[in-house]
Amino acid sequence: MQKNAELQKPLDQNSIKLANRKAILDLLLRERILTRQEITARTGFSFPTVSNTIASLLEQGVVREAGIADSTGGRRPLLIEINPDCRFALGVTIQPRDIRVVRTNIDIRIMDEMTVPIRRNATGETVTAAVTDALETMISRSGEPLGAFLGIGIAVAGYVNRKTISIEAAPSLGLREVSFAPISRKLGLPLYIENEGNAAALAEQHLGIAQGMDNLIYISIVEGVASGTIIAGKLYMGAHNRAGELGHITIEPGGRPCSCGRRGCWEQYVSEDVLLGEYRLLRENDSLTLAHFFQELSDQQEDAVVLWESYVEYMIRGLHTVVAMYDPHYIIIGGSIAEYPQYLLPPLMKGLFKSTTFYTRSDTYILVSELKKDAFILGAALLPMATLPARIA
Ligand SMILES: [Zn+2]
Repeated sequence: MQKNAELQKPLDQNSIKLANRKAILDLLLRERILTRQEITARTGFSFPTVSNTIASLLEQGVVREAGIADSTGGRRPLLIEINPDCRFALGVTIQPRDIRVVRTNIDIRIMDEMTVPIRRNATGETVTAAVTDALETMISRSGEPLGAFLGIGIAVAGYVNRKTISIEAAPSLGLREVSFAPISRKLGLPLYIENEGNAAALAEQHLGIAQGMDNLIYISIVEGVASGTIIAGKLYMGAHNRAGELGHITIEPGGRPCSCGRRGCWEQYVSEDVLLGEYRLLRENDSLTLAHFFQELSDQQEDAVVLWESYVEYMIRGLHTVVAMYDPHYIIIGGSIAEYPQYLLPPLMKGLFKSTTFYTRSDTYILVSELKKDAFILGAALLPMATLPARIA
């Protein structure tokens, strides 16, 4: 009854215009590029309605002309596409050594970025003040009005609460109960928060090597181990948004102590910090980098080879658990180690499928991320994108 009553309510001219505009924008956001003729056919609106709406969207810079379509006979029609620079997102990552802030367009292309170093174990106040300063600088130096920004996405290594926009606990950052809601109020922009592994998994699914993949595990080897799980196309969060903390599965009972309070966690054996730490100890040189290590590996330096074999063995131990738990089609490895796939992928594939009757090479693929370390920040910038249709309508 109520629905019928609504339908019968006469719509004023302005509401009709707005509804037409929204329908055309929704179509263009889905298809990205169409001719006026195609929009007319797809929406069922009259050609003058489509033409007038496109004229106003062109004037506002929301859409732009994109060349001429192939001829189907007669005059060749102009292509119209969403202007990727019509709105912007702000992405933030908070990691043990620094805060990184980017401004992206709606294609999540980075337009501007800055990195602010932070002290290890900085307080919540210091971190939120540094994030606020960096965001204010980025907005102001863009020269864009505040209305051009969709919002802010923050990706952080730790447990987050999306409702209260806060970090519940981030052991690797030494942070607990830090709210980012005041930043949202101060800057007048919506703010979203996500665990960095989840954000990166989303980035891989939307922008990276995993586009269109429905069952995947993302594992990033950085200072620690970050991970995100996508099941049936959706990020799997768990009952308390804490699912998929793969860096903390036990790999060595009673082993090395971990920042989470337990012992023998995977990240204590396969993180970049651990590999680099062991290599630097071996060479008694604190300035050595991963590039040095992989050069030695390429030169077949015996103790570097032994160190790598042990590292790979721990990677395989963890991956066995991951495959047994999730049966993923794809495991995507990101972070700095992923920049050396020639050393990583062959032994992982060989070791993972050795002595198992459960699964074979063709069941699960291990790939390396193309987004590398940017996966976190691109995933952060993706978070406010959900508001795009409403913010340009
Ligand atoms: Zn742990």
